[in-house]
Amino acid sequence: CGIVGYIGFRDAYPIVIKGLHRLEYRGYDSAGVALLNKDEELKVYKKAGKVSDLENFVKGVDTSSTIGMGHTRWATHGAPSDRNSHPHSSGDRKLTIIHNGIIENYNSIKEALLGKGHVFKSDTDTEVLIHLVEDIQTETGLELQEAVRVALNRVIGAYAIVIMSEDEPDQLIAARKGSPMVIGVGKGEYFIASDATPIVEYTKNVIYLNDNEIAYIRRDDLLIKNIDNTVQTPYIQKLELQLEM
Ligand code: GLU
Repeated sequence: CGIVGYIGFRDAYPIVIKGLHRLEYRGYDSAGVALLNKDEELKVYKKAGKVSDLENFVKGVDTSSTIGMGHTRWATHGAPSDRNSHPHSSGDRKLTIIHNGIIENYNSIKEALLGKGHVFKSDTDTEVLIHLVEDIQTETGLELQEAVRVALNRVIGAYAIVIMSEDEPDQLIAARKGSPMVIGVGKGEYFIASDATPIVEYTKNVIYLNDNEIAYIRRDDLLIKNIDNTVQTPYIQKLELQLEM
């Protein structure tokens, strides 16, 4: 339902939480965040309920991280619950995803992955996609960037996704098809959100991802490719949107 991501030099957690609050108007049943801790381990915190419930849950945790992402969920597959909340992980949490939309063919992919020994921790369509990415990496040895692209070529449905990996701690991967996704362009930092409201207070320079595009986002670099592997030239536009503080 709602997506916020940050990579840069500031503390990501407060930016992500504030962004999730900005997106609350859309309605949701659960919320979660993924951060890298100071040992560069990927940490996921998620809870059914309000963003404020998530904040209470995370209280006392060292949340300092200059990369992070958060999600508010509107359940379509799997009841609202802690374990069905996003982010969803694969490979002992080394890879994690947040997702808006629906993966229509998740059941057939899930059957195939169950046959290969994958163990699922939720009832969502979303978790299937991150297991598929991991499976493609295991089978082919492809790096994460390519594995995500190959996986997206195999799924049917609508999505806006962001992926983080412990093995590539300096990168966010975002993609969309049929669900909106905006990238805010700063100096040495990027913002991601499912609409511009969480971004506007930080930068007016935005890129609206098009359908079938994947963005590979590092602090000092942004590469956008189509899922057929052609490099796209990003079109940066100026936000007109004003936000009441
Ligand atoms: N289909 C996913 C789920 O049920 C994502 C729903 C959403 O857009 O929040 O978990």
